[in-house]
Amino acid sequence: MPESLPRNDPRPKVRLFLEQALGAGQHVPLTQDQAHYLGNVLRLTDGAEIAVFNGTQGEWRARIDQLGKRGGTVVCVDPVAPQRDPPDLWLIFAPIKKARTDFIVEKAVELGAARILPVQTDFTNSERIRRDRLQAHAIEAAEQSAGTFVPEVSELQPLSRLLSGWPEGRALWWADEGLAGADATGLADPAPPPAAILIGPEGGFSPAERARLTALPFIRRLSLGPRILRADTAAVAALTLWQARHGDWG
Ligand code: SAH
Repeated sequence: MPESLPRNDPRPKVRLFLEQALGAGQHVPLTQDQAHYLGNVLRLTDGAEIAVFNGTQGEWRARIDQLGKRGGTVVCVDPVAPQRDPPDLWLIFAPIKKARTDFIVEKAVELGAARILPVQTDFTNSERIRRDRLQAHAIEAAEQSAGTFVPEVSELQPLSRLLSGWPEGRALWWADEGLAGADATGLADPAPPPAAILIGPEGGFSPAERARLTALPFIRRLSLGPRILRADTAAVAALTLWQARHGDWG
């Protein structure tokens, strides 16, 4: 909960992400799914209070104005929490099985990633992703974790292309399974924001990828301990380590 609010402030528990601008007295339309969720799943009726956020304007208290079969409207009342953006940290990962990929997206939102970038690598398990589904997961995770920011999930792209167009000044924390069990002193070189974390697929990185990554000037190699972690565990561990060192947890 943001520091600016007293702990007992009764923020509405139900939180919805809306794509429209928010402001006092503003009427905001609901999609059919949102109206269904509020009316039929939660059994809320006109006048009930919920919280809404749009990813840029903080959290607002809103009152249900009208709910129908095809949609509905809420009216914004007052702001209850300021906008809070995570530090400029990207999570880059090679998609794995559907449920585990969903897990990675959900945890990246909870742990405070600013952008989520799925990449194809030489040993990627999955050739396709449903970007819209993963984006919906990211929205749901923000709704459930009291977040006011929703990271964008990018389209799947080849890792090589991402590396070729790498933005200047951004460090890349490469979770390198080759360091597992090595006599690694320290977890990794510092990588303050703007930064990115790279997690490989179940098969790890190919020799060609390893050679390329090793030679890049913006690479910081990261060890996640003596054991080999599954990709989803590695993503959570790396995000946690980065946040503890450079992030907004302190
Ligand atoms: N099949 C590979 C392991 C892949 S684990 C092998 O046996 O070597 C999936 C990804 O998680 C890796 O590509 C790496 O990015 C990350 N990872 C897992 N364990 C790690 C560790 N101990 N240190 C650093 N990264 C690790």
